[in-house]
Amino acid sequence: MTKDEMTYLKGIVRNIPDFPVPGVQFKDLTTLFKDPKALKMLEQAMLELYQGKGVTKVVGIESRGFIGGSMLAVHLGAGFVPVRKPGKLPAETIKKSYAKEYGTDTIEIHSDAITPDDIVVIHDDLLATGGTMLAAYELVKSMNPKKVYINFICGLEFLHGRDVLPQDVEVTTLFDF
Ligand code: AMP
Repeated sequence: MTKDEMTYLKGIVRNIPDFPVPGVQFKDLTTLFKDPKALKMLEQAMLELYQGKGVTKVVGIESRGFIGGSMLAVHLGAGFVPVRKPGKLPAETIKKSYAKEYGTDTIEIHSDAITPDDIVVIHDDLLATGGTMLAAYELVKSMNPKKVYINFICGLEFLHGRDVLPQDVEVTTLFDF
């Protein structure tokens, strides 16, 4: 992705102060998703990062991680696996609780979603404190895939979420605030 493209993408993210609770500056990426030019740039930038790496599964985190995650999976010729909030997945699951920038939560994944042959990209829209991604990473890792990459569209650097994620894992963001 060029610097101009990155500037364009950053520039159309909408900031919503005090959502969903006072003090949070919520980065609304729907303004990026609804813009055809931005969506195309996003698709290309994610593809450039992961093509040729033998990725077999993209794991997307509910719910905004489903958008970029499924796009990436299709373009890599990989499968898509959802990580969901409790009680949504119909078959046997494994679950993990974690702390977020605002509140706590639990996520689940189907216990047969990943196999030891898999090379996985876990994708979410935004890296805040990193708690959600760490929980997702631990769920995926417990199924012993060959390799795991982590990707976000956007990161909030001032929250230092990268520091809570394992240092030996390649973590990418397309742009940061
Ligand atoms: P965290 O676990 O703190 O990294 O939170 C990440 C998840 O919460 C992502 O799925 C984001 O969609 C959402 N999130 C947390 N903080 C924000 C924020 N300031 N703006 C937009 N989304 C956020």
